[in-house]
Amino acid sequence: MFKTRMSAVAAAAVIAVGLPTLAAAQGDVNLYTYREQKLIQPLLDAFTKETGIKVNVVSASSGLEQRIKTEGVNSPADVLLTVDIGRLEDAVQAGITQPIKSDVIDKAVPAQYRDPEGHWAGVSMRARVVYASKDRVKQDAITYEELADPKWKGKICIRSGQHIYNNALFAAMIAKHGEAKAEEWLKGLKANLARKPSGGDREQARDVAAGTCDIGIGNTYYWALMLKNPKQKEWAEATKVILPTFASGGTHVNVSGVVLAKNAPNKANAMKLIEWLAGDTAQHMYADSNNEYPVKANIKPNEIVAGYGKLNPDPMPLSKIAENKKAAANLVDKVGFDN
Ligand code: FE
Repeated sequence: MFKTRMSAVAAAAVIAVGLPTLAAAQGDVNLYTYREQKLIQPLLDAFTKETGIKVNVVSASSGLEQRIKTEGVNSPADVLLTVDIGRLEDAVQAGITQPIKSDVIDKAVPAQYRDPEGHWAGVSMRARVVYASKDRVKQDAITYEELADPKWKGKICIRSGQHIYNNALFAAMIAKHGEAKAEEWLKGLKANLARKPSGGDREQARDVAAGTCDIGIGNTYYWALMLKNPKQKEWAEATKVILPTFASGGTHVNVSGVVLAKNAPNKANAMKLIEWLAGDTAQHMYADSNNEYPVKANIKPNEIVAGYGKLNPDPMPLSKIAENKKAAANLVDKVGFDN
């Protein structure tokens, strides 16, 4: 009996040698994600096609870290795919991650977009930029610091200061200038608002188009999405994207990224998925279909995104920004930014 089984295994091994990677790599990987299904499904389908690994998706708009934590050692989660350094950091803080040890990731993803301990890695980038009125804003360059200049009084629109996208920008401001100066800046920005913070990023462009404000703050991919959407095209067309920089240089960039779940039951396949997301096929898809910036240096953004001008990212590691996440949230409350 034992002998028969051994020979069956041996026979299977012999057969496997002659097969392409596709058959050898079969199995499943369980992906938990906050990303919109329609954005990521094409990526996952391409991954499955290339590797033979089936991706089971659990998607939600909140609470996935808590869910993985509650599932504990029995959690089926292999990979958590999300946006924003804030959420990646939340996953690490929840204790549901393990280090991603991969030469492929280390090579493809610049160090500033990876956790120094390997607990998260960025797979695509987006910049937080200015949507400026084409008619009313003459300048084509701006600093984030300048957004607090009284010359913009009553002219700026922005979403909630507690939203993760603004939290990261404000945290970066703290990391650059310290808390006291960042507070002055945030008060100045608040004093320049045309209205109470509200809406999503696209609504800021909508309100610039309507004349409520001259400047809206938003992420790079939303402007491309508006341009491609017949109902929102005029919001994009009323505005121009300016890539702001900090006074010291560099545009604020955030990432979408991944963590490897602490108890990943399909760790080998999870690593294949993570590495694949940083590979050429996925990086092209992030650029072309999702209007994001690829993290991988040799891949170009799509034409619309390239049209914003050359992106010179702030060289500050995202881990530094994550360190100031809480302080940024406190400052927003302290200055009553959303009131
Ligand atoms: Fe978004």
